[in-house]
Amino acid sequence: MTTPLLGQMMDVPLNVSSLLAHAARHFGATEIVSRRIEGDVHRYTYRDCEQRAKQLAQALIALGVQPGERIATLAWCGYRHLEAYYGTAGFGAVCHTINPRLFTDQIAYIINHADDSYVLFDITFAALVDSLAPQCPKVRGWIALTDEAHLPQMDTPVLCYETLLAAQDGAYDWPVLDERSASYLCYTSGTTGNPKGALYSHRSTVLHAFGASMPDAMSFSSSDSVLPVVPMFHVNAWGIPHAAPLGGTRLVFPGKDLDGKSLYELIESERVTCTAGVPTVWLGLLTYMKQAGVRFSSLNRMVVGGSACPPAMLRIFQEDYGVRVIHAWGMTEMSPLGTLATLSWEQAQRTPDEQRKLREKQGHVIFGVDMKIVDAEGRDLPWDGVAFGDLHVRGPWVIDRYFRKDDSPLVDGWFPTGDVATIDKDGFLNITDRSKDVIKSGGEWISSIEVENVAIAHPAVAEAACIACSHPKWTERPLLVVVKRKDAQVTREELLAFYQGKVAKWWIPDDVVFVDELPHTATGKLQKLRLREMFRDHVLPGAVERAV
Ligand code: AMP
Repeated sequence: MTTPLLGQMMDVPLNVSSLLAHAARHFGATEIVSRRIEGDVHRYTYRDCEQRAKQLAQALIALGVQPGERIATLAWCGYRHLEAYYGTAGFGAVCHTINPRLFTDQIAYIINHADDSYVLFDITFAALVDSLAPQCPKVRGWIALTDEAHLPQMDTPVLCYETLLAAQDGAYDWPVLDERSASYLCYTSGTTGNPKGALYSHRSTVLHAFGASMPDAMSFSSSDSVLPVVPMFHVNAWGIPHAAPLGGTRLVFPGKDLDGKSLYELIESERVTCTAGVPTVWLGLLTYMKQAGVRFSSLNRMVVGGSACPPAMLRIFQEDYGVRVIHAWGMTEMSPLGTLATLSWEQAQRTPDEQRKLREKQGHVIFGVDMKIVDAEGRDLPWDGVAFGDLHVRGPWVIDRYFRKDDSPLVDGWFPTGDVATIDKDGFLNITDRSKDVIKSGGEWISSIEVENVAIAHPAVAEAACIACSHPKWTERPLLVVVKRKDAQVTREELLAFYQGKVAKWWIPDDVVFVDELPHTATGKLQKLRLREMFRDHVLPGAVERAV
C-alpha cells in the first residue's frame, strides 16, 4: 500500500457559525425584516443578528448548557428564531425545531425523546407550554422569545429571552467544532407511529446550504429579497436560514400570519424577489390576489414543494402572474432538498408544452444527491418516465440513522424514501405516491397524485384527494374525495366526465364524494390514512353491481 499524496490546503471544518459570520462580515448591512408576533415590523441587519446570536450563546452557556445538549424551539419565522438557530448550534449545542401544530402529546413525546434541556417559545404558544410543562419534567427552563413588557401570564415559570440577552455583551468567538458534530434536530411528522428524529451535522447543514443555493436550485444571491413561508419548524425552512446568509441574501420573515392578504402585502412592501412554501399557502395567496385584482411588482420566482404542486397552480402563477414556479421535492431525512425542476438550455429549446410538462415534475437532483428507482426485489428500474418504483436516495445530507434508534434504515447504503416515482430520460423525477398510498387496481398501480391533479384543474374544485377503496374484482379502485370551491357547483357525473381524455380510462375514479374539508397533517399534507379509515365502508357503484 502506498501512502496517498495528501492535498495541502487548509483543513477548515464546515461549521454553521461560519455562515452567519460570513454574512455579518461581508454583508453586514443587509437587512433581516420580521413581522413580529407583537404586531409590528422589526428590522435589523446580519451584523446585529450575529451579535445577538452570540449573546444568546453566552446566555445559554451561563445557564450551564453543554455542547451536544438539545435546545428546542417552538416558534414562527422571525429574527429571534434565526438567532436561536445560530446561538445554539454555533457553540455546539443542537437546535431542535419542533412543529407546534402537532398534538400536545406528540410534542411532549418529542421533547422527552430528544431530552431537550431548554425550550425557546414564541408567546403565541404560552398556553401550549403550560400544557406541555407538566409532561416534560426534564426540561430545565422555558424561555419566552419576547421582552419583559410582553411576557404572558402563565402557570409555568419562564425566563425572558430579552432579559437573558441583555445580561451578555456578545464578546464571544464561535468555537471551532468537529464538522461531524450534531447541529440541528428535526422530527418527521409521523402519520403512523411516533415521530422519528433526523439529526443533522454541521457538515451536512453547510453542504446542504451550498447545494440549496446553486443556480439550478434556489439560486439565492445578494440581489435577492427572500421570504420563507415554509416555517422554520419544518425541516429548517428548507435550509433558507442557512442558504440566505451564505449568499448575503436579504431575509423577510412573515411571522405567524400566512393568509393570502398578509403574504401579498409583505411581498409587495418588502420588494420580495423569491419565496418558498407548500401548495396550500399558495392557494390562499392566489384566491386573495384574484379577489383583490392585484399583481406582483417584484416577485420573480417561487419554490413550491412539500406536496405535489398542482399543474393548474403552476400554470396560473407562470402565465397569469409572470412568476417562475420551481417545483421541488425533498424530505426531513434529506435536510430536505433532493430535486428541483429547472430546465437546461437544451430543454428550454423544446416546445412550450414539453417544457411545461417537465416543470410539472419534481425535477433533477442537485449535486450531492443521487437517486434510483427499484422494483420490489430491489432491482434498478429504467429511467423511461413509465416504470414506477420505490425511490431510494443517498448523499452527504441524507440520513444514515434516526436519532436514538439502533437499526439502520438503509438498504445497500441507500435510504428508501417511502415515495413511489418514475424517472424519465431527462433524469426528471415524478413522484406518483407515498408507497402506502398507492392504489393497486388489478395488479397495476394508479398514481393518486395524477388523479388529484386532474380534479384540482376543474374550476369548481378547491381540493381533492384520491384514495384506494376496496373492490371485489380489482382489489382496489380509486375513490375521489372533493372539497368544492365556495359557491361553486359541480356534480359527481360532471367531474367524472372531466377526466375523459386526461388520464387512462382505468385511472378514472369509480366514485366521487363531496366533503366540507379534508384532514391534513401538521405539515399540511393530506392525511390519506385517516381518509381511508373514514371511507373504509364506502361501497363503490361498480362493486355493488358485481357483488349482486
Ligand atoms: P417531510 O419530511 O414532512 O418534508 O415530507 C416529505 C414527503 O413529502 C416526501 O417523502 C413526499 O412524500 C412529500 N413531498 C415533498 N415534496 C413533494 C413534491 N414536490 N411532490 C410530491 N410529494 C412531495
